[in-house]
Amino acid sequence: MPWTGHSGYLMSWRRVDLMKGFLSEVSENYGTFPNYIDGQFTEPNSSKQHVLNPATGRQIASVPLSGEEEVGAAVDAASLAFEKWSERPVQERVQFLFELKRLVREEYENLARIIVQENGKTISEARGEVSRGAENIDAAIGALYHLDGRKTPDISRGIDEEMQHEPLGVFAAVTPFNFPMMIPFWFLPYAVATGNTFILKPSERTPVTMNYLFRKMHERSIFPNGVVNLVNGARETVDALLRNGRIAGVSFVGSTAVAKHIYEECTKRKKRVQAQASAKNFVIVMPDAKLNHSIPNIINSFFGNAGQRCLAGSNLVVMEENHRQVLEKFANAASELRLGYGLSEETDMGPVITWEQRGRVISYIEKGLDAGAELVLDGREGSAEDFPDGNFIGPSVFDGVSVDMAIARDEIFGPLASVITASSLDDAIEKANTSTYGNMAAIYTSDAKSAREFASKVDAGNVGINIGVPAPAATYPFGGYKDSFFGDLHGQGGQDYIQFYTERKVIISRWF
Ligand code: NAD
Repeated sequence: MPWTGHSGYLMSWRRVDLMKGFLSEVSENYGTFPNYIDGQFTEPNSSKQHVLNPATGRQIASVPLSGEEEVGAAVDAASLAFEKWSERPVQERVQFLFELKRLVREEYENLARIIVQENGKTISEARGEVSRGAENIDAAIGALYHLDGRKTPDISRGIDEEMQHEPLGVFAAVTPFNFPMMIPFWFLPYAVATGNTFILKPSERTPVTMNYLFRKMHERSIFPNGVVNLVNGARETVDALLRNGRIAGVSFVGSTAVAKHIYEECTKRKKRVQAQASAKNFVIVMPDAKLNHSIPNIINSFFGNAGQRCLAGSNLVVMEENHRQVLEKFANAASELRLGYGLSEETDMGPVITWEQRGRVISYIEKGLDAGAELVLDGREGSAEDFPDGNFIGPSVFDGVSVDMAIARDEIFGPLASVITASSLDDAIEKANTSTYGNMAAIYTSDAKSAREFASKVDAGNVGINIGVPAPAATYPFGGYKDSFFGDLHGQGGQDYIQFYTERKVIISRWF
């Protein structure tokens, strides 16, 4: 089944420019970003890196690569701000979050468009991201209730005992390229709601959305100076954050190699740390699955965001008895995805983040062929008309894959699916559990018993039942087993954030 190279870009450049006229502040080039420290924009004295639009290949911004000095200034500002911020009652702190929610709602479409420009995903995926990010503001307002302590009168005769949560100081978050808005929001609202101050280091590949939003927050004076800070940069910036003794804790989301480094450095220095990492997700289709409903959902899991989600399906496990039927429907549906610039509503799949990443996906296709897997859909020639300089690559599907092949083992983070055949549910679960990762696993079935068994036996932190992207709502923690997570307390809401961002103090009292 050859890749036919659809182009989904049905809008002309002129039309896009006209739309930009309405959105006066969404631009084609955002210039060089300053840092945002202590309520002021400061130009770091450091080298810069270009930010490219993955669909057009054009430069859209420059990002400074901050070092020790800029990180030190941000920590000074956040430490100073902590003194007053932590003393505000939680009822007062959450009022600032209501303002932030209003701002995000007003900027909803602008934020979505910027995400498309810098990340390449489609506009509907970007809108979804903004909504999911904003949900965390709502959940963090729940700190009003979650910060309750406890008290036991007369724990002994005339003696009372109580426990209260106390904020710790300055927290930092280091975030990846694939969700430039949502992932910073897994941390920022919770850190400040619990009385801490915050420093964000966004991905140097997709820094535009958060730099834009911080500018808007500044214009509206959403937070007092120093409560939220943004330091642009890359590896050296992160190392400066890790070395800084006044940072109480670090949240990280990104690849496993970096997550391990961050976890080790933080634990060595007694910093709190939560590090969410890479994935290689298995999706199992049972013979009783309702294929008409399931296939579009599975396609979204594997090829949504061009396969660049940590919850993306990567290995599709099908049973021997209906292997051919599932494979055909899946590969056919994948071949119909329209590649294009995400700003067009007609686009089904955008480019991957960089030209190097496109090359990496191609190198995995070659590895699959060398290992003897059968390439039933070849996306290597996939392109988007009008965008010859974009990092486009079409969806690819391998059949006849075994779990020991590199294409089934390694995180590829692109639109490449491997079909693996299993003889039974137990065999499928066993195959899924060979992975060194454990971020997500999903099953498609009409049988509750199979679903229940799968959910309890599979080693993954986020499980989908007839859902291919089981992204937890903001009121639940974001799971991850094995090499997909380092730490104890997970990101997002649920109860984990209270434990992560506060210390428990126990007070025992007697009055004479
Ligand atoms: P990445 O690890 O390359 O970068 C993430 C962040 O770490 C960036 O801010 C980057 O500047 C910084 N960084 C990179 N190298 C560093 C180093 N050597 N030392 C210190 N800091 C460094 O990840 P990415 O490519 O931006 O994102 C994709 C990865 O993130 C994938 O592996 C994906 O599975 C993972 N991810 C995981 C989750 C999850 O919740 N488990 C969610 C989204 C993405």
